[in-house]
Amino acid sequence: MSETKFSVMVSLFNWMQKSKSSSVKRSKFRKFLDTFCRPNNGDDYFSAIRLILPNLDRERGSYGLREHVLATCLIDALGMSRDSPDSQRLLNWRKGGPKSGAFAGNFSLIAAEVVLQRRQAMVSGDLTIKELNELLDRLASCENRSEKTSILSDLIRKTNAQEMKWIIMIILKDLKLGISEKSIFHEFHPDAEDLFNVTCDLKLVCEKLRDRSQRHKRQDIEVGKPVRPQLALRVSNAAAGWKKLHGKEVVIECKFDGDRIQIHRNGAEINFFSRNFLDHPEYGHGISDTIRENILVDRCILDGEMLVWDKSANRFAEFGSNQEIAKAAKDGLDSDRQLCYVAFDILYVGDTSVIHQSLKERHQLLRKVVKPVAGRLEILVPNGGLNAHRPAGKGNYFSACFIYYKQFCLLSYRDKVFSRQILFFMEPCWSLIVHDVDGVEKFFKETIENRDEGIVLKDLGSKWEPSDRSGKWLKLKPDYIRAGSDLDVLIIGGYYGSGRRGGEVAQFLVGLAERPRQTHIPDVQNSGRLTNSAACKSCMWTKLFVSFCRVGTGLSDEELNAVVTKLKPYLRSFIVSITSDIRTIRSEVFAAPYSLRFPRIDRVRYDKPWHECLDVQSFIELVHSSNGT
Ligand code: ATP
Repeated sequence: MSETKFSVMVSLFNWMQKSKSSSVKRSKFRKFLDTFCRPNNGDDYFSAIRLILPNLDRERGSYGLREHVLATCLIDALGMSRDSPDSQRLLNWRKGGPKSGAFAGNFSLIAAEVVLQRRQAMVSGDLTIKELNELLDRLASCENRSEKTSILSDLIRKTNAQEMKWIIMIILKDLKLGISEKSIFHEFHPDAEDLFNVTCDLKLVCEKLRDRSQRHKRQDIEVGKPVRPQLALRVSNAAAGWKKLHGKEVVIECKFDGDRIQIHRNGAEINFFSRNFLDHPEYGHGISDTIRENILVDRCILDGEMLVWDKSANRFAEFGSNQEIAKAAKDGLDSDRQLCYVAFDILYVGDTSVIHQSLKERHQLLRKVVKPVAGRLEILVPNGGLNAHRPAGKGNYFSACFIYYKQFCLLSYRDKVFSRQILFFMEPCWSLIVHDVDGVEKFFKETIENRDEGIVLKDLGSKWEPSDRSGKWLKLKPDYIRAGSDLDVLIIGGYYGSGRRGGEVAQFLVGLAERPRQTHIPDVQNSGRLTNSAACKSCMWTKLFVSFCRVGTGLSDEELNAVVTKLKPYLRSFIVSITSDIRTIRSEVFAAPYSLRFPRIDRVRYDKPWHECLDVQSFIELVHSSNGT
């Protein structure tokens, strides 16, 4: 590998990208491995495979270069003026422009063309794979933009435009080769995927499995090495979920809206591994001591969700504040909010992996191993532990009992507090063993009322399997069901898409009318322009619209194209009916006070005049009435 030129890989990439058949892609890749990666000759597989699967490479840190920053560095590296048309193409890569054609929305293609125009060299600069990896290591480790720019100009000097295009894709960690990670692994070695799933260590996989003819003994998980998580399959309704788990013993759990985190404890050392196998030591500031004191074994792996507990509101905070709270804990700032880990599974205890045990057995272990601490470290287990505990009376109502949090949160916004209270005293709320589909429906309904993210159904007899999404766990989210009423809102802007919809409007900015509807019907001829206000010619009556949310899904390509075509020439605007998860969020980005989670266009209302758009006040009333306030 030390001598293999990067241009050889580029030919492989071009071949793979061009060919339609997956078996051809695989055989090209195999041929490349056999010809150019010969460990016996001092070559190594890792140097090449890390460039093919850059998103799985943990050895190199993050480059800190998404498209926009990369564009500015490339502009400087190529010595271009920021105002030049090519710089503008790079900076506005989504939109493209007249010269962009099919390239709009494809950053690496635009960049390659811009490089080509400046460096006429078609011949390769003879960069080797080894040199490329060294330069990428430097790119990831340098901190300021000028160093990054100088490494990029080095790369530009040593490559031609084709090679540079692939390097940019490697930096952006998406090669779009049209071959799955599974196929790459399988072609490399039949046990590669399994080993990667339990170690998340590409280097180790490449080194351990150098001999394809030698099968590797299935490796179990280890403390200190992140493992790819068990995943949940999506179902569209409770009945479908129940049918899928027919005949199994089923537990349903609240789907918490936080960060999926594995906690690995090895004595005093604690790691917080996220879904992309990165350690998050910042979580330790708030929570490590609690873990050391309340996890009753020296070595273990917990699987769960990192959330933020709001002490003053007595409920979990909305998704999105984890990092901010971790930082506040690090800085020793006093806050009403704190990190709270909810462990819903256990994968390793003492010196043994327990993923092969049933979920029911793992729940027992979780109860034994973790001593819950209210609002800090919680366990999610059914019919036992905290959830099954019924309060003796009001005296221990606010004790360290997990179930009460939800209780308390209901108290804060419902008027029928007392009846709800009794209902919830009788039933566990966060996790429950169910015996029929009605139980699932009921739990799901409460989840929606309580504005939780959804529910997860789990087969209690199942083992925990890395990266498995076969249906042992099922997820059901309210955003997959239709909200009670459609919201008729006005398109007031558009966003250019990327990839397949690059250079075209792929999402809309929609608005609400600012004032309650008028009885007066303005002149439609001059109305509905794609601006924030629309005026009636005859009486100067003006209607203002405030931005409300961004919506891109729901329409077929054909329907979307039709809307965009109709919008284009006249800059006219239409009403669209949107549905969404019934939960709203307080909006910081848009002008309306609330926005929607997971909005989806239900249909375009060509039939409805623009001035019949929903107004802000009516929407706020809708929000309050569905909140019960
Ligand atoms: P999503 O975007 O729906 O969370 P995902 O791709 O992150 O999906 P999935 O495996 O499809 O992950 O869905 C399950 C996710 O739900 C987990 O990754 C985890 O972060 C989260 N989760 C929240 N509560 C639970 C729970 N009780 N059991 C399992 N997963 C849970």
